[in-house]
Amino acid sequence: MIDTAASEARPTESLSIAQALTSAAACGVDRLDAQWMLEKLFGQPRTWLIAHDDALLSEDQRVRYTHWISRRAAGEPLAYLFGEKEFHGLQLRVGPHVLIPRPDTETLVEWGLELLMGELSAIVAPQVVDLGTGSGAIALAIKRRWATAAVAAVDLAASALEVARSNADGLGLTMDLVQGSWWSALSGRRFHLALSNPPYIAPGDEHLAALRYEPQSALVSGENGLSDLHEIIDDAPDHLAAGGWLLLEHGHDQAEAVRQRLCVVGFENVQTRIDLTGRERCSGGRLGTRSLDR
Ligand code: GLN
Repeated sequence: MIDTAASEARPTESLSIAQALTSAAACGVDRLDAQWMLEKLFGQPRTWLIAHDDALLSEDQRVRYTHWISRRAAGEPLAYLFGEKEFHGLQLRVGPHVLIPRPDTETLVEWGLELLMGELSAIVAPQVVDLGTGSGAIALAIKRRWATAAVAAVDLAASALEVARSNADGLGLTMDLVQGSWWSALSGRRFHLALSNPPYIAPGDEHLAALRYEPQSALVSGENGLSDLHEIIDDAPDHLAAGGWLLLEHGHDQAEAVRQRLCVVGFENVQTRIDLTGRERCSGGRLGTRSLDR
């Protein structure tokens, strides 16, 4: 099927927008995805494409379109084809070394911003950390909306930190990039707000097949997906300021386990937030005084 499209869209032939959409369908590529590619190639909105469906693709457009269609037909996410993804109003560069930011994670950002604007608002330069920053999505979304925050972004992978650096530079936002595993490179520092979207999918989970283009290290965690969440929670008391908050994204069926662990370690005000699809997606709490003298 991919071959058919490739021959239909051969650079020597002319190809109209309507034909391009037909060839995408023949390859099993969603019409909306194909339209999105054409929007990018023409620099025009969808309404323009519909009104000009006899417009011809240039040779360069045809080559790029054909390449995108075959990659998309193989299952590669659009964000990697385009090298970018919108998150919380920011246009972020993404590539195969980083997880593609999800709308679900905006729930975590919104919660963090609520705390910065509310309970933590008396702190002049709140210390914020994003653990496992990947593209820098969470850290940058917070920094853009709360400029006085001193934001640290941690990742184990140097290749991810390069992407986060490029996003910070591109957006003109300052953050401190730190290489290390969760809290390990942050000894001696205490934060008022810590956020993390760690890997939380159990090894062998059936959803992983659809996520095969994304870094598995950002997706999969042992102990049924809870291993990294547990590690972050257990070490948090040594790295949070008095009254500091820890907010964690997790799987839709992990909220209770995460809340329980937070309580055991000494968090108070432990609660869960739901994502845009109504699933329990983030849990967090405020470090209670009982654990501060550890
Ligand atoms: N929410 C993502 C998904 O299920 C997983 C992100 C993660 O593991 N942190 O596609």
